[in-house]
Amino acid sequence: MELQERLDDVRARIATAEREAGRAEGSVQLVAVSKTFDADQIRPAIDAGQRIFGENRVQESQGKWPGLKAETSGIELHLIGPLQSNKAAEAVALFDVIETVDREKIARALAAEMKLQRKSLRLYVQVNTGLEPQKAGIAPDDTPSFVSLCRDELRLSIDGLMCIPPADENPGPHFALLAKLAKASGVEKLSMGMSGDYQVAVAFGATSVRVGSAIFGTR
Ligand SMILES: *Cc1c(COP(=O)(O)O)cnc(C)c1O
Repeated sequence: MELQERLDDVRARIATAEREAGRAEGSVQLVAVSKTFDADQIRPAIDAGQRIFGENRVQESQGKWPGLKAETSGIELHLIGPLQSNKAAEAVALFDVIETVDREKIARALAAEMKLQRKSLRLYVQVNTGLEPQKAGIAPDDTPSFVSLCRDELRLSIDGLMCIPPADENPGPHFALLAKLAKASGVEKLSMGMSGDYQVAVAFGATSVRVGSAIFGTR
């Protein structure tokens, strides 16, 4: 299959999942995860009309996205991987959305950088729904108070929550937990679901899904 066909297939499956869940068509955004793929491999997706992309490393993104953004207007770039505070300046300069805010230090670094660069990014708080020690994200119990700190004290625009469920577990309960935490925290958006489970995520209320290998192929 060509990239265009795989992209069309993912879009069709999202539309079916929206319909089956009784949700409005187009209510779920597709974030095409292009990590490890180079500009020439990403360009066909842009040519096929895709505009929202996700990357997990700041440095890798700096090598390909400034050029791709210059070629096409309306590209929206999401950081979906861990962010170190010493990379906050680069991240604010390149990305439009950061989905991995998960501790006070990084929230403060982003607030300071956005002020300095006079740029306002939309942010998501990453939640470690499975409390996995090796995984980034704030603990579920701490989520509402952390969102409040970001919004009220640091004046950050927190759009929603993001999670990556444990690889070996049924993702449904993790998606349900993220939706519950979003309500408790007063945020609207839910970034959840990847190639293996994005239709399930749509059923649980995802407002965006992050799909990589189903579009670009195996990494
Ligand atoms: C790589 C990645 C994805 C996409 O994973 P696929 O299984 O290739 O769809 C989604 N979210 C995050 C945070 C990732 O790092």
